[in-house]
Amino acid sequence: MMLIPDIVIAIDGFSSTGKSSFAKLIAKEFGFLYLDSGALYRGVTLYAMENGLIDGENRIDGERLCRGLADLDLHFRQEADGCRTYMGDRCIEKEIRSLAVSRKVSPIAAFAPVREYVDRKLRELGIRKRVVIDGRDIGSTVFPDAELKIFMTADPQTRAMRRMKELEGKGEKVSFSDVLENVRERDYIDSHRQVSPLAKADDAIVLDNSEMTIEEQMVWIRELIAERFGNKSVQQ
Ligand code: C5P
Repeated sequence: MMLIPDIVIAIDGFSSTGKSSFAKLIAKEFGFLYLDSGALYRGVTLYAMENGLIDGENRIDGERLCRGLADLDLHFRQEADGCRTYMGDRCIEKEIRSLAVSRKVSPIAAFAPVREYVDRKLRELGIRKRVVIDGRDIGSTVFPDAELKIFMTADPQTRAMRRMKELEGKGEKVSFSDVLENVRERDYIDSHRQVSPLAKADDAIVLDNSEMTIEEQMVWIRELIAERFGNKSVQQ
C-alpha cells in the first residue's frame, strides 16, 4: 500500500458521477475515513419529509426545520460491510437513497441553515484529516484548504443509466426518463442555488469518467497521488 501524508481529499461533482464509489475505494486503498456529505443532506430531507416540513411544491417550513435541526442527530456508523447513516438509533441508509428523497433533497440542500448544519458536522469529522469527503462544495466551501481536490463529471445520459441500475439493484422500479429528469433537475438546482452552488474549485482537477471504468479511475488517482505526494509517500 502506498502511504500518504495526513491530507483531506475532496471529491466534488455532478450527481451520479460515481463520486461515492470512487471515494470509498480511495478511502480503502489509503486507509482513510470516508464521509458522504450527500447522505447528511438526504438525512435532513428524510427528517423534513417525515415531519411535514416540505410540501408537494417543495415549500419548506423554515422555522420548524431550523428548530428541528438543533436536536437532529445524524451520524455515520462504521459497520462490517460499510458505513451507514443513522438518525438517532435508526439506520436510515435505505430510505435516504430512494427516488422520493432524491426528488426533495436539492431544495432542502439549498436552504442555508441546512448547509450550515451539514458543514459543521463535516468539519468536526474532518479536523483529524485522513478523510475522503464527497459532495458538491467540499473543495470550494467546506474544506477550501483540502490538499487534493477532484471535480467529477460525466454526460447526463451515462449518469442517469448508472443511477437507474443502482436503484433497480435496490429493488426500486423506476423509468429511465424519470431518473434522467431527476439528474438534470438536480444539476440545475445544485448549480444555480444562491448558497454554495456546485462549483469546481480553481485548484480542483477535473475527472470526466463518461468513458472510464472504476478500475481506470483508480489507476488515474494512484498516478496523480504518486505524482503530487510522491516525495512524501512511503512504499511499503
Ligand atoms: O451526493 P448525493 O446525490 O447523495 O447528494 C444528494 C443531494 O444533496 C445533491 O443532489 C445536492 O442537492 C445535495 N448536496 C449538496 N452539497 C453537498 C452534497 C450533496 O448540496 N456537498
